[in-house]
Amino acid sequence: MSDVDAAKLPVMLNALRLPTIGRIWQEFGARADREGWGSARFLAAMCDHELAERAARRIARHMAESGLPHGKTLATLDFAAVPTIRKAHVMALAEGDAWIEQGGNLLIFDPSGTGKTHLAAAFGTAFVDNGKRVLFTRTTDLVQKLQAARRDLALPGTLAKLDRFDVLVLDDLGYVRKNQAETNVLFELIAERYERRSLMTTCTQPFSEWNQIFPDPAMTVAAIDRLVHHAIILELNTESYRQKALHFGQPLECIA
Ligand code: ADP
Ligand code: MG
Repeated sequence: MSDVDAAKLPVMLNALRLPTIGRIWQEFGARADREGWGSARFLAAMCDHELAERAARRIARHMAESGLPHGKTLATLDFAAVPTIRKAHVMALAEGDAWIEQGGNLLIFDPSGTGKTHLAAAFGTAFVDNGKRVLFTRTTDLVQKLQAARRDLALPGTLAKLDRFDVLVLDDLGYVRKNQAETNVLFELIAERYERRSLMTTCTQPFSEWNQIFPDPAMTVAAIDRLVHHAIILELNTESYRQKALHFGQPLECIA
Protein backbone atom coordinates (compact mmCIF):
# COMPACT_ATOMS: atom_id res chain seq x y z
CA MET A 1 0.00 0.00 0.00
CA SER A 2 1.32 3.43 -0.86
CA ASP A 3 1.86 6.12 1.75
CA VAL A 4 -0.72 8.20 -0.09
CA ASP A 5 -3.38 5.50 0.40
CA ALA A 6 -2.44 5.16 4.06
CA ALA A 7 -2.74 8.92 4.51
CA LYS A 8 -6.15 9.06 2.81
CA LEU A 9 -7.67 6.14 4.71
CA PRO A 10 -8.44 7.90 8.02
CA VAL A 11 -10.36 10.61 6.18
CA MET A 12 -12.26 8.15 3.99
CA LEU A 13 -13.11 5.81 6.86
CA ASN A 14 -14.29 8.76 8.88
CA ALA A 15 -16.49 9.96 6.00
CA LEU A 16 -17.95 6.44 5.74
CA ARG A 17 -18.49 6.39 9.52
CA LEU A 18 -16.30 3.36 10.10
CA PRO A 19 -14.45 4.39 13.27
CA THR A 20 -13.59 0.86 14.37
CA ILE A 21 -11.89 0.02 11.09
CA GLY A 22 -10.16 3.39 11.31
CA ARG A 23 -8.75 2.40 14.69
CA ILE A 24 -7.68 -1.17 13.94
CA TRP A 25 -6.83 -1.44 10.25
CA GLN A 26 -3.10 -0.77 10.65
CA GLU A 27 -2.61 -3.42 13.31
CA PHE A 28 -4.73 -5.95 11.39
CA GLY A 29 -3.09 -4.93 8.10
CA ALA A 30 0.35 -5.68 9.50
CA ARG A 31 -0.86 -9.03 10.78
CA ALA A 32 -2.52 -9.84 7.46
CA ASP A 33 0.75 -9.06 5.64
CA ARG A 34 2.75 -11.13 8.09
CA GLU A 35 0.41 -14.14 7.99
CA GLY A 36 -0.42 -13.90 4.31
CA TRP A 37 -4.19 -13.36 4.71
CA GLY A 38 -6.02 -12.95 1.44
CA SER A 39 -7.83 -9.68 0.77
CA ALA A 40 -11.27 -11.23 1.45
CA ARG A 41 -10.23 -12.46 4.89
CA PHE A 42 -8.78 -9.08 5.80
CA LEU A 43 -11.87 -7.21 4.62
CA ALA A 44 -14.20 -9.66 6.39
CA ALA A 45 -12.25 -9.23 9.65
CA MET A 46 -12.58 -5.44 9.37
CA CYS A 47 -16.33 -5.64 8.72
CA ASP A 48 -16.84 -8.11 11.58
CA HIS A 49 -15.23 -5.75 14.06
CA GLU A 50 -17.08 -2.70 12.79
CA LEU A 51 -20.44 -4.51 13.00
CA ALA A 52 -19.74 -5.89 16.49
CA GLU A 53 -18.78 -2.50 17.89
CA ARG A 54 -21.71 -0.84 16.17
CA ALA A 55 -24.09 -3.32 17.85
CA ALA A 56 -22.42 -2.72 21.23
CA ARG A 57 -22.70 1.07 20.81
CA ARG A 58 -26.36 0.76 19.85
CA ILE A 59 -27.11 -1.36 22.93
CA ALA A 60 -25.24 1.13 25.16
CA ARG A 61 -27.32 3.98 23.65
CA HIS A 62 -30.56 2.07 24.17
CA MET A 63 -29.57 1.28 27.75
CA ALA A 64 -28.84 4.95 28.45
CA GLU A 65 -32.20 6.11 27.06
CA SER A 66 -34.19 3.32 28.77
CA GLY A 67 -34.35 4.70 32.31
CA LEU A 68 -33.85 1.12 33.55
CA PRO A 69 -32.48 0.89 37.10
CA HIS A 70 -28.97 -0.50 37.32
CA GLY A 71 -28.23 -3.94 38.71
CA LYS A 72 -31.81 -5.25 38.53
CA THR A 73 -31.13 -8.08 36.11
CA LEU A 74 -32.10 -11.71 35.65
CA ALA A 75 -28.61 -12.61 36.86
CA THR A 76 -29.24 -10.85 40.18
CA LEU A 77 -32.80 -12.17 40.54
CA ASP A 78 -33.07 -14.89 43.17
CA PHE A 79 -35.55 -17.28 41.57
CA ALA A 80 -35.80 -19.32 44.77
CA ALA A 81 -37.50 -16.31 46.35
CA VAL A 82 -40.25 -16.29 43.69
CA PRO A 83 -41.35 -19.93 43.52
CA THR A 84 -44.61 -19.03 41.74
CA ILE A 85 -42.70 -18.37 38.51
CA ARG A 86 -40.51 -20.84 36.66
CA LYS A 87 -37.01 -19.74 35.72
CA ALA A 88 -37.22 -21.50 32.33
CA HIS A 89 -40.45 -19.63 31.54
CA VAL A 90 -38.92 -16.29 32.55
CA MET A 91 -35.79 -16.96 30.46
CA ALA A 92 -37.91 -17.87 27.44
CA LEU A 93 -40.00 -14.69 27.81
CA ALA A 94 -36.83 -12.64 28.17
CA GLU A 95 -35.80 -13.76 24.67
CA GLY A 96 -38.84 -11.75 23.77
CA ASP A 97 -38.90 -11.96 20.02
CA ALA A 98 -42.26 -13.47 19.08
CA TRP A 99 -44.53 -11.77 21.60
CA ILE A 100 -42.82 -8.40 21.29
CA GLU A 101 -43.00 -8.51 17.47
CA GLN A 102 -46.75 -9.13 17.84
CA GLY A 103 -47.22 -6.22 20.25
CA GLY A 104 -48.14 -8.53 23.14
CA ASN A 105 -48.18 -7.39 26.76
CA LEU A 106 -46.56 -8.69 29.91
CA LEU A 107 -48.44 -8.04 33.13
CA ILE A 108 -46.78 -8.66 36.48
CA PHE A 109 -49.00 -8.92 39.55
CA ASP A 110 -47.75 -9.16 43.07
CA PRO A 111 -50.41 -8.78 45.71
CA SER A 112 -48.29 -9.41 48.77
CA GLY A 113 -44.56 -9.62 48.30
CA THR A 114 -41.86 -7.65 46.56
CA GLY A 115 -39.89 -8.18 43.41
CA LYS A 116 -42.20 -6.65 40.77
CA THR A 117 -39.92 -3.77 39.89
CA HIS A 118 -36.84 -6.00 39.93
CA LEU A 119 -38.44 -8.55 37.62
CA ALA A 120 -39.79 -5.89 35.23
CA ALA A 121 -36.40 -4.17 35.10
CA ALA A 122 -34.67 -7.50 34.58
CA PHE A 123 -36.92 -8.25 31.61
CA GLY A 124 -36.34 -4.75 30.24
CA THR A 125 -32.57 -5.11 30.52
CA ALA A 126 -32.69 -8.49 28.76
CA PHE A 127 -34.75 -6.98 25.92
CA VAL A 128 -32.22 -4.16 25.47
CA ASP A 129 -29.41 -6.73 25.39
CA ASN A 130 -31.35 -8.50 22.63
CA GLY A 131 -31.43 -5.32 20.55
CA LYS A 132 -34.85 -3.96 21.56
CA ARG A 133 -35.67 -0.43 22.64
CA VAL A 134 -37.26 -0.12 26.06
CA LEU A 135 -38.53 2.76 28.18
CA PHE A 136 -38.91 2.07 31.88
CA THR A 137 -40.97 4.62 33.79
CA ARG A 138 -43.06 4.93 36.90
CA THR A 139 -46.66 5.08 35.74
CA THR A 140 -47.28 8.32 37.65
CA ASP A 141 -44.32 10.04 35.96
CA LEU A 142 -45.49 9.09 32.49
CA VAL A 143 -49.08 10.06 33.26
CA GLN A 144 -47.86 13.53 34.36
CA LYS A 145 -45.93 13.89 31.10
CA LEU A 146 -48.90 12.81 29.00
CA GLN A 147 -51.19 15.23 30.83
CA ALA A 148 -48.75 18.08 30.22
CA ALA A 149 -48.65 17.06 26.55
CA ARG A 150 -52.45 17.09 26.39
CA ARG A 151 -52.52 20.60 27.88
CA ASP A 152 -50.08 21.68 25.15
CA LEU A 153 -52.24 19.97 22.51
CA ALA A 154 -49.28 17.68 21.82
CA LEU A 155 -50.65 14.35 23.06
CA PRO A 156 -50.78 12.56 19.66
CA GLY A 157 -47.18 13.56 18.91
CA THR A 158 -46.01 12.46 22.35
CA LEU A 159 -47.77 9.10 22.01
CA ALA A 160 -46.26 8.69 18.53
CA LYS A 161 -42.79 9.33 19.95
CA LEU A 162 -43.31 6.47 22.42
CA ASP A 163 -43.79 4.21 19.41
CA ARG A 164 -40.06 4.00 18.95
CA PHE A 165 -39.91 1.83 22.06
CA ASP A 166 -40.62 -1.84 21.44
CA VAL A 167 -41.57 -2.20 25.09
CA LEU A 168 -42.89 0.46 27.43
CA VAL A 169 -42.63 -0.53 31.10
CA LEU A 170 -45.24 1.08 33.36
CA ASP A 171 -44.06 0.40 36.88
CA ASP A 172 -46.68 0.54 39.66
CA LEU A 173 -49.78 0.96 37.52
CA GLY A 174 -52.10 1.10 40.51
CA TYR A 175 -49.88 2.98 42.93
CA VAL A 176 -52.19 5.95 43.36
CA ARG A 177 -55.87 6.29 42.65
CA LYS A 178 -56.19 8.17 39.40
CA ASN A 179 -58.56 11.00 38.63
CA GLN A 180 -60.54 11.14 35.39
CA ALA A 181 -57.96 13.20 33.48
CA GLU A 182 -55.11 10.89 34.51
CA THR A 183 -57.17 7.86 33.60
CA ASN A 184 -57.98 9.32 30.18
CA VAL A 185 -54.38 9.78 29.09
CA LEU A 186 -53.35 6.41 30.47
CA PHE A 187 -56.13 4.65 28.61
CA GLU A 188 -55.37 6.57 25.44
CA LEU A 189 -51.83 5.22 25.70
CA ILE A 190 -53.12 1.66 26.16
CA ALA A 191 -55.46 2.00 23.17
CA GLU A 192 -52.72 3.58 21.03
CA ARG A 193 -50.32 0.67 21.59
CA TYR A 194 -52.96 -2.06 21.42
CA GLU A 195 -51.86 -4.93 19.12
CA ARG A 196 -48.92 -2.88 17.83
CA ARG A 197 -46.43 -2.14 20.58
CA SER A 198 -45.83 -4.00 23.83
CA LEU A 199 -46.61 -2.78 27.31
CA MET A 200 -45.23 -4.29 30.48
CA THR A 201 -46.91 -3.32 33.74
CA THR A 202 -46.39 -4.07 37.39
CA CYS A 203 -49.36 -3.84 39.69
CA THR A 204 -50.25 -4.81 43.25
CA GLN A 205 -54.01 -4.91 42.79
CA PRO A 206 -55.72 -7.70 40.83
CA PHE A 207 -58.10 -6.69 38.02
CA SER A 208 -61.05 -7.18 40.37
CA GLU A 209 -59.84 -4.16 42.37
CA TRP A 210 -59.10 -1.88 39.45
CA ASN A 211 -62.43 -0.11 39.91
CA GLN A 212 -60.85 1.35 43.07
CA ILE A 213 -57.91 2.75 41.07
CA PHE A 214 -59.80 4.07 38.05
CA PRO A 215 -62.99 6.11 38.40
CA ASP A 216 -64.69 5.18 35.11
CA PRO A 217 -65.97 1.56 35.07
CA ALA A 218 -66.59 1.38 31.30
CA MET A 219 -63.13 2.67 30.52
CA THR A 220 -61.59 0.31 33.06
CA VAL A 221 -63.21 -2.70 31.42
CA ALA A 222 -62.10 -1.51 27.97
CA ALA A 223 -58.53 -1.03 29.18
CA ILE A 224 -58.40 -4.44 30.85
CA ASP A 225 -59.71 -6.03 27.62
CA ARG A 226 -56.95 -4.41 25.59
CA LEU A 227 -54.23 -5.16 28.09
CA VAL A 228 -55.22 -8.79 28.50
CA HIS A 229 -56.11 -9.67 24.91
CA HIS A 230 -52.56 -10.67 23.95
CA ALA A 231 -50.97 -10.84 27.36
CA ILE A 232 -48.69 -13.01 29.39
CA ILE A 233 -49.59 -12.71 33.06
CA LEU A 234 -47.12 -13.46 35.83
CA GLU A 235 -48.24 -13.59 39.44
CA LEU A 236 -45.44 -13.42 41.95
CA ASN A 237 -47.49 -13.67 45.11
CA THR A 238 -44.49 -14.22 47.34
CA GLU A 239 -43.62 -13.34 50.85
CA SER A 240 -41.86 -10.00 50.96
CA TYR A 241 -38.30 -10.49 49.73
CA ARG A 242 -36.98 -8.00 52.24
CA GLN A 243 -38.60 -9.92 55.12
CA LYS A 244 -37.35 -13.18 53.71
CA ALA A 245 -33.78 -11.90 53.55
CA LEU A 246 -34.10 -10.88 57.18
CA HIS A 247 -35.46 -14.35 58.08
CA PHE A 248 -32.26 -15.79 56.68
CA GLY A 249 -30.35 -13.38 58.87
CA GLN A 250 -28.43 -11.98 55.93
CA PRO A 251 -28.32 -8.47 54.58
CA LEU A 252 -30.24 -8.23 51.30
CA GLU A 253 -27.09 -7.53 49.28
CA CYS A 254 -25.69 -10.97 50.09
CA ILE A 255 -28.63 -12.65 48.41
CA ALA A 256 -29.31 -10.21 45.57
P1 ADP B 1 -41.67 -4.19 44.45
O1 ADP B 1 -41.45 -3.41 43.20
O2 ADP B 1 -42.53 -5.39 44.26
O3 ADP B 1 -42.09 -3.35 45.60
P2 ADP B 1 -38.79 -4.53 44.30
O4 ADP B 1 -38.62 -5.24 43.01
O5 ADP B 1 -38.45 -3.08 44.29
O6 ADP B 1 -40.24 -4.79 44.90
O7 ADP B 1 -37.93 -5.30 45.40
C1 ADP B 1 -37.45 -4.67 46.60
C2 ADP B 1 -35.95 -4.95 46.76
O8 ADP B 1 -35.73 -6.34 46.90
C3 ADP B 1 -35.15 -4.52 45.54
O9 ADP B 1 -33.89 -4.07 45.96
C4 ADP B 1 -35.00 -5.79 44.74
O10 ADP B 1 -33.83 -5.78 43.93
C5 ADP B 1 -34.95 -6.85 45.83
N1 ADP B 1 -35.57 -8.11 45.37
C6 ADP B 1 -36.88 -8.41 45.37
N2 ADP B 1 -37.11 -9.65 44.91
C7 ADP B 1 -35.89 -10.15 44.61
C8 ADP B 1 -35.44 -11.41 44.10
N3 ADP B 1 -36.31 -12.39 43.80
N4 ADP B 1 -34.11 -11.58 43.91
C9 ADP B 1 -33.24 -10.58 44.21
N5 ADP B 1 -33.60 -9.38 44.70
C10 ADP B 1 -34.90 -9.15 44.90
MG1 MG C 1 -41.82 -1.47 42.79
